[in-house]
Amino acid sequence: MSTHKITIALAGNPNSGKTTIFNALTGAHQKVGNWSGVTVEKKEGIAHCGEIEFHIVDLPGTYSLSAFSMEEKVARDFILSGEADVTCVVVDAGNLDRNLYLVAQLLEMETPLLVIFNMMDEVENRGIRIDIEKISRLFAVPVIPTIANRGKGLNEILDTVSKIADGDLTVRPATVHYPKEIENAIAQLEKNIIPPSCGLKSCPSKWMALKLLENDSEVRRLFKDQPSALALADELRKSISQIFKDDPEMIVTDHRYGFVNG
Ligand code: GDP
Ligand code: MG
Repeated sequence: MSTHKITIALAGNPNSGKTTIFNALTGAHQKVGNWSGVTVEKKEGIAHCGEIEFHIVDLPGTYSLSAFSMEEKVARDFILSGEADVTCVVVDAGNLDRNLYLVAQLLEMETPLLVIFNMMDEVENRGIRIDIEKISRLFAVPVIPTIANRGKGLNEILDTVSKIADGDLTVRPATVHYPKEIENAIAQLEKNIIPPSCGLKSCPSKWMALKLLENDSEVRRLFKDQPSALALADELRKSISQIFKDDPEMIVTDHRYGFVNG
C-alpha cells in the first residue's frame, strides 16, 4: 500500500502554541534550516497517521501577512506557493481580538484553512465560554479546540486536515465585507488585471486586486510589466481616498478589525 502525503503549513501569532503543536505532532522527526535567501529559521517535520504521511512546515510566527517583515513575507509566499494542501492557523483563544486579525487575512487568501483554538484551558480557567461551532459557521471553516501542552485535540487536527485534503470536507472561507466603493474597486481591478505568472499557484485574483488597492509593494512588483493595472490601482486608490478622506489601506485594516470584533 502506498503512503499518501499531505503537506500542512502551520501559521499563527508568536506564543500561540505553534511550536508546542509542531513538536507534539512531529516528535523527533524534524529538520531545521533556513528559508532560502533569508536568515529566518525554517522547521519541517513528519507525522504519520495510518497510511498518511503529514509533512508539516512551521511558518514564522506573525501578527499579520502584509509582507512588511521578512517573517511575514516568508509565511505569505509559502501559503501563496500552493505547496501546502491545508494551512492550519493556531490561535491563542484567550487573545482572540489580536489573533483573529491574522485569521481574517488568511480567509482572504482563499486557501484551504483549518483554525486551531489553542489554550482552551486558560479560557476555561477564566470562566469564558467560546461557541466554537458558531465561530466555525461564521468563518465557514473548521475550528478545532486544543490544549496543546497536554496533547488535547491534536488527533482531531490531523483527522480534519486529511478530510480537507481528500476533498471529504469542502472549505469555502467567509471573507470580510468592505464598503461598496471598495468592493466595486476590487471588482473593477479584478476584471482588468492579468494574473502574472509568478510561480505562485494559489494567488487568487481577488486577493491580488485587494492588495493592489492596499498599495502592497510586493504585489505591485508582480505587476511591473502591466503599467495599466498599476495605473488603474492608483486611480482607484485616489478616488477612494477622496470619498473616505483616508487611505484605502487604513479603511481595509479597519474593516478587518470590524469583522474580527463582530
Ligand atoms: P509559539 O511561539 O507559537 O511557537 O508558542 P509555543 O509553542 O512556544 O508556546 C508558548 C507557551 O505557551 C509555552 O510556554 C507553551 O508551553 C505554552 N502553551 C502551549 N499550548 C498551551 C495550551 O494549550 N495551554 C497552556 N496553558 N499553555 C500552552
Ligand atoms: Mg515557536
